[in-house]
Amino acid sequence: MTLSINLPAMISGIRRWVEAESPTRDTAAVNRMIDLVQADVADLPVSVERVPGRNGFADNLIVRNQAAGEGAGIVILSHIDTVHPVGTLRGALPFRRDGDRLYGPGLFDMKGGAYLALEAFRQVAKANSAKLPVTFVFTPDEEVGSPTSRHIIEAEAKRARYVLVTEPARDGGKVVTSRKGVGRFEVKTIGVPAHSGARHQDGRSAIREMARQVLAIEGLTDYARGVTTTVGVIAGGTAPNVIPQHCHITVDLRVRDVAAGTEFEAKILGLEPFDPGVKVEVTGGMNRPPFEKSAAIDVLFRHAQAVARGIGFELEHTEMTGGGSDGNFTAALGVPTLDGLGIDGDGAHTEWEHGLISSIEPRTRLMRGLLETLQ
Ligand SMILES: [Zn+2]
Repeated sequence: MTLSINLPAMISGIRRWVEAESPTRDTAAVNRMIDLVQADVADLPVSVERVPGRNGFADNLIVRNQAAGEGAGIVILSHIDTVHPVGTLRGALPFRRDGDRLYGPGLFDMKGGAYLALEAFRQVAKANSAKLPVTFVFTPDEEVGSPTSRHIIEAEAKRARYVLVTEPARDGGKVVTSRKGVGRFEVKTIGVPAHSGARHQDGRSAIREMARQVLAIEGLTDYARGVTTTVGVIAGGTAPNVIPQHCHITVDLRVRDVAAGTEFEAKILGLEPFDPGVKVEVTGGMNRPPFEKSAAIDVLFRHAQAVARGIGFELEHTEMTGGGSDGNFTAALGVPTLDGLGIDGDGAHTEWEHGLISSIEPRTRLMRGLLETLQ
């Protein structure tokens, strides 16, 4: 079946979504974005389940094509939260078109990709042309590690034959077949406060201890093994003339495989104080397991390649990327997962975030082709 793409209509649809700013922690804003998605599927022969948000996060929306019947099917995953605070649109990153580029907060990561996947899903649902049941899951909290959507994603994936993720394409349209695993930790040091002039010798500095911990943690980075550790946030102390009692940091860990995840998680959780007068407390662990390219993922990728060839372009995949996604959860369950099916572009999470107009049509066709041929 031929696919007609109304590109101006798609661009204005993407604009509508991008202009509904939806930073993860702004529950009302993210729910307004979910409202838009819900309105955009209202005319389709689908069932819609809106799962109320928990723990201060917004709702999840689960949309199923009805005609394709029961049994294992395809799950499409799109997160509709972004990292950009409300006001970014009026300030640093207004929606605008410059040649082939469409700029806007969350346009590349990942409203452009979510929108084009929904367009493909709309067409397939209307034509009743999928061979398998298709479940489209829109989630509100990916940018902070999917704390409230993970169980929904995993429950749907366990019943699925394939998972397709609409995260941005990479390096000129490549899809993603593997991702590093991600660990997140918080380290606190608790020292003994004292007046920095009168009682210096009685103090035990939480900052001094943390300085040594930071070097130890960052020293775990091993590029040859694909392991990186990053202390991304640090805070501590109260005043220039007080030996600091408290300091804390966040640690980001990236690993290539499950074994490295277990090993480095244990190393970070097992950090000991250098100064016995200071306590070290570590919490956290692996958040997203590694997404390793299995034989079944390779088969799925080759199928997508054949679909792309039929459309008229050559599809490639990236080398293992360091960025995690919800595809990590589903791949780790052993469900063949193809990621990076979203819009091509660049600048995720920055003020020059943009998607490429020229990628909208081929990638909409690719998504529709996958939905119509996977069985
Ligand atoms: Zn994303």
